[in-house]
Amino acid sequence: MVKFRNLLFLILVGTTTVFANNELKIVDRSVHFGMRPETGRTIEAIIIHSVFNKSAGDKYSVKQILKQFRQYHVSSHYLISRNGKIFRLVKERDVSFQAGKSCLPDGQTSVNQCSIGIELVTTDDISDKPTDKQIKSLTSLVKNIQHRYTIKYILRHSDIAPERKTDPWNMDWEEFQKKLSDETRN
Ligand SMILES: [Zn+2]
Repeated sequence: MVKFRNLLFLILVGTTTVFANNELKIVDRSVHFGMRPETGRTIEAIIIHSVFNKSAGDKYSVKQILKQFRQYHVSSHYLISRNGKIFRLVKERDVSFQAGKSCLPDGQTSVNQCSIGIELVTTDDISDKPTDKQIKSLTSLVKNIQHRYTIKYILRHSDIAPERKTDPWNMDWEEFQKKLSDETRN
């Protein structure tokens, strides 16, 4: 019985690779916290965040970060690990609790309702920054999302909640925007 349970557990938590297109490889790590199932929402913003493990051990541990998310009842649609691997935590059609009290440039305050959140695993230490692999994956993912929805805003968490938030930390935003506007494929 114990063995059977273990097997069942493995099946339930096992990861599936989702191919958003021929080039973008996404690993399914669906969570059931920090989110709300939805149908037919309009997606018009992408919010970029950063996060790290604040408990003991590896600051970049995806497993620990997910534990942290569960503890605070938050999540994001995607999380990009240090080696550029993209994990999908919440389906795009569903709402993830990532933006908090925030406001888009047009005055909309229901940001979670209309956005997709992406987390980069990196610390707020000045000597740290997102890796090249992370930026490459982020650029591909954002371009892919832009192909599928009419995206009005691509913003940092600090852009929509400047009094509360400083993430994404140590990210070269101008360079990222340049990469996004580059029409050539990555
Ligand atoms: Zn954030």
